[in-house]
Amino acid sequence: MKIIASFVLISILFFPGFSLCLAAENGVFSRLRDRMVKGQIIARGVSDPGVLKAMEKVKRHVFVPERYRAHAYNDHPLPIGKGQTISQPYIVAFMTEALALKPKDRVLEIGTGSGYQAAILAELVDEVYTIEIVGELAKKAKQTLEKLGYRNIHVKTGDGYKGWPEKAPFDAVIVTCAPEKIPRPLVQQLKEGGRMIIPVGKAGSIQRLVKLTKKDGKIKKHEEMLVRFVPMVKGSD
Ligand code: SAH
Repeated sequence: MKIIASFVLISILFFPGFSLCLAAENGVFSRLRDRMVKGQIIARGVSDPGVLKAMEKVKRHVFVPERYRAHAYNDHPLPIGKGQTISQPYIVAFMTEALALKPKDRVLEIGTGSGYQAAILAELVDEVYTIEIVGELAKKAKQTLEKLGYRNIHVKTGDGYKGWPEKAPFDAVIVTCAPEKIPRPLVQQLKEGGRMIIPVGKAGSIQRLVKLTKKDGKIKKHEEMLVRFVPMVKGSD
């Protein structure tokens, strides 16, 4: 069995065009996912059972370009085209856990990218609204998510800086690109008791991952860790 699994993995790594038996391929990816959850996520302290279950379930390799599939479960971000990246698995899990999601929550994500983070969120809550500024990425993510059968993810092309006022307020907001300052509309669109997780800082430098909570109309901030995200770009009005 081990020999077959190694053969399949080697084929995926070195002959991405090689047509493999789907079941065998799924088996290998499922084992890589399991290793990712244990070695990268639980080992670093993420413990929310719902988050771990979602990370175990969602097929990350479906969200990355074909040539990176074999690396989908590695401990780093990967290119997804248009100069953008899918975040490191641990960061996805950490940010999701920080939102302390409940099943009835409505969540806003800024920076759809591949759609992977949106899929993780959709495993945990009722409705996910996600905004992507690059039209081509939004279209691709929408196709991937539809193919996987997600009916509770709403993808929009646009400038996430302004949030999604028609669908506000949100129980949680997650931003996966880094603005220099926390966008005011996103704070306004957060419900009382709502949580936001957002990287803040200059483009191309180390940023601070900040968690905000809105309580009695006041905002509390907590710095979680240092991170490096792609910048939040401004859309044209
Ligand atoms: N969450 C994604 C990864 C995000 S990468 C995933 O799971 O794959 C960050 C994304 O933010 C990029 O796709 C980038 O195009 C997008 N982005 C940058 N500025 C933005 C803005 N102002 N509004 C919406 N999306 C933006």
